[in-house]
Amino acid sequence: MSKHVTHWINGKPFEGTAERRGDIYDPAAGVVSGSVDFASSTEVDAAVAAAKAAFPGWRDTSLSKRTAILFRFRELVHRHRDELARLISAEHGKVVSDAAGEVARGLEVVEFACGIPHLLKGGFSENVSSRVDAYSILQPVGVCAGITPFNFPAMVPMWMFPVAIACGNTFVLKPSEKDPSASVRIAELWAEAGLPEGVFNVLHGDKAAVDGLLEHPDVKAVSFVGSTPIARYIYETAARNGKRVQALGGAKNHMVVLPDADLDLAADAAVSAGFGSAGERCMAISVVVAVDPVGDELLAKIKERVAKLRIGPGDNPESEMGPLVTRVHRDKVASYLDSGVAQGATLAVDGRETPVLGGGADGFWLGPTVLDHVTAEMDCYKDEIFGPVLTIARVGSYDEAMGLLSDNPYGNGTAIFTNDGGAARRFQNEVEVGMVGINVPIPVPMAYYSFGGWKASLFGDSHAHGMEGVHFYTRTKAVTARWLDPSHGGVNLGFPTNG
Ligand code: NAD
Repeated sequence: MSKHVTHWINGKPFEGTAERRGDIYDPAAGVVSGSVDFASSTEVDAAVAAAKAAFPGWRDTSLSKRTAILFRFRELVHRHRDELARLISAEHGKVVSDAAGEVARGLEVVEFACGIPHLLKGGFSENVSSRVDAYSILQPVGVCAGITPFNFPAMVPMWMFPVAIACGNTFVLKPSEKDPSASVRIAELWAEAGLPEGVFNVLHGDKAAVDGLLEHPDVKAVSFVGSTPIARYIYETAARNGKRVQALGGAKNHMVVLPDADLDLAADAAVSAGFGSAGERCMAISVVVAVDPVGDELLAKIKERVAKLRIGPGDNPESEMGPLVTRVHRDKVASYLDSGVAQGATLAVDGRETPVLGGGADGFWLGPTVLDHVTAEMDCYKDEIFGPVLTIARVGSYDEAMGLLSDNPYGNGTAIFTNDGGAARRFQNEVEVGMVGINVPIPVPMAYYSFGGWKASLFGDSHAHGMEGVHFYTRTKAVTARWLDPSHGGVNLGFPTNG
């Protein structure tokens, strides 16, 4: 039966009729499995109005009541994690265990937000001047919007709304139109947890919905995660419209393997981080930088592991890697195999030949692919492929490896594999990348740190979750207070100084 997904506004499904809809696919079968309503200005206005109306009451809800709702929400998401994982897998294509992993990482941010009474404590200085006290308070900004990508339909929204809502804001989420169901189930769980109507809303759609939010005068802050061209557009448009904005963009993550590294560990890491979720992760490793003389041995170990990977539908427990999200994306990723070879790379493993465990012949399949002898001039190196294509660049030295990283426009994640503490320390100090792994391939920060890249991987200056998330979703007010006593001093036109 074909499903139909609609918006969630003011604590319930939206009842109007959509002017436009988009298709939802089952990527393993390669067929349409349902449709999703696309918002026009009517639905954008309704969602923002609901969030605006809910804001004063939610802002003034005590920290203990907010925290109690967050704890209940945490329990409900935990209890329904398998159901959420299956919803994600059915629309995204990733295997169910991987989808459960993203729900677990999202839950960590909810758990972080459960500590909001501690996180929102301001500062207090007694007697900064004679009988004058100074203190700071953190207040919510108002209606916040989150615009999120297809590749983590639960985790990336959960980088945003738990912190925003805990801080006392109300929220409109515009998830990816490719896999919209998880966000609606999350909205139902919020309602079950006792969140007041209008505090969390879900608006589906494409550019029209996004532009409606970016231009709406009642939206005060915008968080975005997605590709670099759209991140730049969101940053510029939201800023032009007077909103605070954080926009996380695309990636090209390099994994440097030094000659002294444990090559079995490095090969395990490269294969896991290159092909997990079919490479559709912003922290996927896409370039292995093999420092001479490790190239041949490392490639042999990678090939050995790739040959054992099992590709199939996400709900088959035997599958380790699912299909890609759409046919268009699958074909674009596959095009880099031909262009890479035409530009001089060696096709060490051809994913077009990988057998598939069940699933439809029309599924959006592409097996794990390895392109060796890749250089900085090739399109497969320059572009973010966002699929199961691991490229290997061979370099002569650490300095040459660092040169590649420095010249690359992206700066999301990177990793170094070595047993030399000095080399690792030098790397972490020098590299212009926001998230660094040392013998760890996907260094996704824990919820109490903040997630974000540098260079073309982030526009704005705030990373997601952790204390940077708390700062993004609050405004600081500094108060200077004197309770008058008989010696207040009278009129003084001089600039206030301490005394
Ligand atoms: P995308 O940029 O195409 O879409 C992201 C969101 O923007 C979606 O909600 C989409 O509806 C909306 N959108 C798309 N085109 C738009 C337009 N022209 N105007 C306004 N809004 C538009 O990204 P995607 O394909 O869904 O996701 C994959 C990308 O996200 C990759 O580049 C990946 O690296 C990136 N990503 C980055 C991070 C990070 O933390 N830096 C995390 C996850 C994904």
